[in-house]
Amino acid sequence: MPNVLFVASEIYPLVKTGGLGDVAAALPVALRDIGVDVRLLLPGYPAIMEAVSPASTHLSLPLLPGIDAAQICSGTMPDTGMPVYVLDCPRLYRRDGGPYQDAHGSEWLDNELRFAALSKAAALLGRFEISNELNFPIDLIHCNDWQTGLVPAYQQYLHGKQPASLISIHNIAYQGLYGANTVPSLGLPWDSFGVQGVEFYGLLSFLKAGLFYADWINTVSPTYAQEIQTPEYGYGLHGLLGHRKDALTGILNGIDEQQWNPLQDQHLKAPYSVDNLAGKELNKQALRQRLGLSEENPSKPIFGMITRLTAQKGIDLVVPIISDLVQEGAQFAILGNGDKHTEHQLREIAATFPQQISVTLGYDESLAHQIEAGVDIFLMPSRFEPCGLTQMYSMHYGTIPIVRKTGGLADTVTNVSPSNIDNGMATGFVFELESSDVLLQTALQAMLLYRNREMWQQLQRHGMLKDFSWKHSAEEYLKLYNKLVYDF
Ligand code: ADP
Repeated sequence: MPNVLFVASEIYPLVKTGGLGDVAAALPVALRDIGVDVRLLLPGYPAIMEAVSPASTHLSLPLLPGIDAAQICSGTMPDTGMPVYVLDCPRLYRRDGGPYQDAHGSEWLDNELRFAALSKAAALLGRFEISNELNFPIDLIHCNDWQTGLVPAYQQYLHGKQPASLISIHNIAYQGLYGANTVPSLGLPWDSFGVQGVEFYGLLSFLKAGLFYADWINTVSPTYAQEIQTPEYGYGLHGLLGHRKDALTGILNGIDEQQWNPLQDQHLKAPYSVDNLAGKELNKQALRQRLGLSEENPSKPIFGMITRLTAQKGIDLVVPIISDLVQEGAQFAILGNGDKHTEHQLREIAATFPQQISVTLGYDESLAHQIEAGVDIFLMPSRFEPCGLTQMYSMHYGTIPIVRKTGGLADTVTNVSPSNIDNGMATGFVFELESSDVLLQTALQAMLLYRNREMWQQLQRHGMLKDFSWKHSAEEYLKLYNKLVYDF
């Protein structure tokens, strides 16, 4: 079995802004469960330093010009016991605010240093003499997103091409673009700054560096792996990805079934399962009470959304049709944060129908669980979606997703059709065109089917019975690791 260093810039539940945090928490554990020795490398943000209380090994590493007070400490994750190396560099990571932004939502001005340092530390750890000192000879470095994109570049230029490298794209829209003047401050040679290197339209691109130099590229669904090779979805990197298509695959994420399980979810009013859906009704009632939604007509369907409010998530397709659906008898439970203009629009709509629409702006893990359990229909009309987790949580919770046919949404939700509602295949509603009208028609179709309790429950059961566990994904990753370490 290969030894794997899994490098990530966030991890649930300590520091999370999106799906990457969930993946970093769950995939290494699933890999460990099938026998792979995986260790994490994380930045020493305050939450991580505190929770991991790293102690045993301290290794000082020369990182970037001017940044030499960095140490690698080892410890374990508090909840899963996963072994973790923490890059402790107070100047870069010990500050209040988010992992990428300050408390006011502005990007940290030294993000290029912060994540180049993380990448450099990973490349250094990969060196045989260092990993040997840690008693962990690394066979493969698994990088994630732009924050770790420079790992293979540092390997290429400074530390040797071993061990093997894999980069996973969780979202190609975020690339880590910086001015050319950063090249020397990150300790990269000018040789690297070209089309055949880290340069991207005159800038230094962390993600492009990873995609160019890594031995293999992976993304989080087979459909997204295809889509990013097109101009529409590739965010300028489609040419390079097309060129590297023989070293590009997609493996679907799983969901953490410890955290997301309606039978043992601490956040819920009542547990339930595929064999007994009665608890779902109690959660719906509790959700209405918590959010101040009218209980006059308990059989009305509730639509839910839990999302970052960005153009990616297609919230602008939803906003114009909310009142139409409310007039048809629907209610809404929306939880999200992000774009201020969208937050304002949502607040206004909620004020128009306070008893039918609830909008919670902010990040609320507990409410996210209660929405998944308490609503009937989940909206996810994303413009693009590398994998998406919330549609899988929904199906697992007997909540029927309405998704746009893109990326992981296309790979995980099977559209209802007259022929597949009886045969266990259909799990939700899938539409193609990026249009509010089409979304509205699909939502109305869902409301119509919702009235047929028997068919609806069939749909719920199909989704709840699907296997979204990490075990399957972990096995796919192991196959890929083995290929990269032993067959290349
Ligand atoms: P992305 O990574 O693009 O944001 P995913 O569907 O892959 O989308 O993952 C989103 C994760 O973040 C899910 O675990 C979801 O429950 C959570 N999430 C998103 N917004 C919120 C929020 N406002 N409050 C609580 N959880 C949220």
